[in-house]
Amino acid sequence: SPRVGVLALQGDVREHLSVLTALGADAHPVRRPEELAAVEGLVLPGGESSVIDKLARAFGLFDPIRAAIAAGLPMYGTCAGLILLADRIDGAIAGQRTFGGIDARVARNVFGSQTASFETDLDVPALGESPVHAVFIRAPAVVEWGPHAVPLASLPDGRVVAIEQGALLGTAFHPESTGETRFHRRFLDHVNARRGADAPAL
Ligand code: GLN
Repeated sequence: SPRVGVLALQGDVREHLSVLTALGADAHPVRRPEELAAVEGLVLPGGESSVIDKLARAFGLFDPIRAAIAAGLPMYGTCAGLILLADRIDGAIAGQRTFGGIDARVARNVFGSQTASFETDLDVPALGESPVHAVFIRAPAVVEWGPHAVPLASLPDGRVVAIEQGALLGTAFHPESTGETRFHRRFLDHVNARRGADAPAL
């Protein structure tokens, strides 16, 4: 089974580790560059993107993660993790940076205070017929994207809440907390595809 990591600086790390483990992956927290170098894919959890950004720099992980993205390491970001994978963000706090990789603009905390947290069912054609029950918590949304980024799901108002570019996947919501496993499977499919056609199937 593929060895994958969850960036474990802040956020809902444990939830991602348990989904990945339940899917048969060999999942480990990643806090140090050596741990990053040992994984075949990385999940960026939900939490607070500006804090994860600061801690990534403090832990010497910021440049290694950017290099891993440039080298094609599959990644899946949920919520704050989606923000961290976006090339451009609206509503950044002073000095906040992202790893980037997905040619998109993501607006932070874009749902007003009345609807800062909400749940809805989303159609995600790329994942099959049954809808995704999506939980949004002070969530971002993709407000603009380039030709290489592929929207996978949107809200009725047109804002994109799941997007993919190559082996980078991001969702504005939290499948890791609802028992929804299809996004994590898709991430593991990217990991297995990169291992090569002769790699053992999960
Ligand atoms: N609002 C948070 C941020 O900007 C994201 C919230 C979340 O990950 N649930 O990082």
